Amino acid sequence: MSTGTANIDFTNDMTAGFYGHSNPVILAAIRSALDNGISFGGPHAHEVALAEAICRRFTSIERVRFCNSGTEANLVAMGLARAATGRPLVLAFQGGYHGSLATYTNVEAPLNVDKQQMRFARYNDEEDVRRVLDKFGEETAAIIVEPMMASGGGILGNRAFLAALRTMTDKCGALLIFDEVVTARFSPGGLQDLFQVRPDLTTLGKSLGGGITFGAFGGRADLIDRLDPSRPGAILHSGTFNNNVLTMSAGHIGLTEMATIHALQAVNASGGKLRHSLLEVAKVRRKALTIGGYGSILSLHFQPAEPRNPAEITTTPTQRKLFHLDMLLRGFYTPRRGTINLSLATTDEDCEAFVEAFAGFLDQFSAFLPRG
Ligand code: PMP
Repeated sequence: MSTGTANIDFTNDMTAGFYGHSNPVILAAIRSALDNGISFGGPHAHEVALAEAICRRFTSIERVRFCNSGTEANLVAMGLARAATGRPLVLAFQGGYHGSLATYTNVEAPLNVDKQQMRFARYNDEEDVRRVLDKFGEETAAIIVEPMMASGGGILGNRAFLAALRTMTDKCGALLIFDEVVTARFSPGGLQDLFQVRPDLTTLGKSLGGGITFGAFGGRADLIDRLDPSRPGAILHSGTFNNNVLTMSAGHIGLTEMATIHALQAVNASGGKLRHSLLEVAKVRRKALTIGGYGSILSLHFQPAEPRNPAEITTTPTQRKLFHLDMLLRGFYTPRRGTINLSLATTDEDCEAFVEAFAGFLDQFSAFLPRG
């Protein structure tokens, strides 16, 4: 069981709770940090250790800087791209989510920043990106992309599409930013390593901070070095809690002791097994179901064809709500948006019980779900 309450947790803090609620290794790191001072106002050893661990794992990250959230990491990365290229525009994807101030599930969201300086294309659609770059390529500082759209529906980027973004950005002199806030957990070097596409900048967050407030961005040394305050003409990047001691120690221990290659492979394999079982249960009942996502993150759509971008999602908000509320009644906590996020604390028994409950849900609400 991964929770102390009546519900088994398949939300896991929207993927940030990757190590479970009370992982003893993480708790020990935090306790030890507490005993040795939590506020220094300057660099400290935990920060260096986490930075080194991240640079070792992600081949495209030659230097890394910390901040306090994934939102902040993305805003700074986009700002750095603008400053480094001297160009104003950033191309993002309709349905993408890069934080509370960069929410492109609604490109007109009131709190979004730099609205006039954003351009948008369809995810997984190389031609559409080309169309935008033909018009705005010379003014484009960067393309920012989630290699798997998380909030937008657990839609995995096509490898060829992501590789094409690399080629197109190189051609027009723009930078390529991968938002791996969610996907970094898929392998020691993130989804970029599995796809073998090397971005200029990568943003990180969520579980890499050990479950505590976290954000980071890193990449090419020549870009990140522009923020190094010891260099003449450095661009200012600052923040009181950027190197929060508790985050740095939990993040470091988590990455080096918990998120080993074997642990990541095992949790991805559990996700694969769960995916297979859920699809079987739906197939037997002739219900339409596709499951997007990757490895330990599953994204359920009650529709026959897997969506390649958010516009192709036909599952209704009512169906999602029904799934969420009914699974809650059956003792399973999943996010409203239909994803299932495994953690290192999720057991085989948790997954088996989930499959059984899901079969009950399909039987009870068959009339509200499309035929497969
Ligand atoms: N990028 C992605 C892909 C995310 O899913 C999220 C959070 N859901 C963020 C950025 C924002 O991170 P935070 O909530 O830490 O600001």
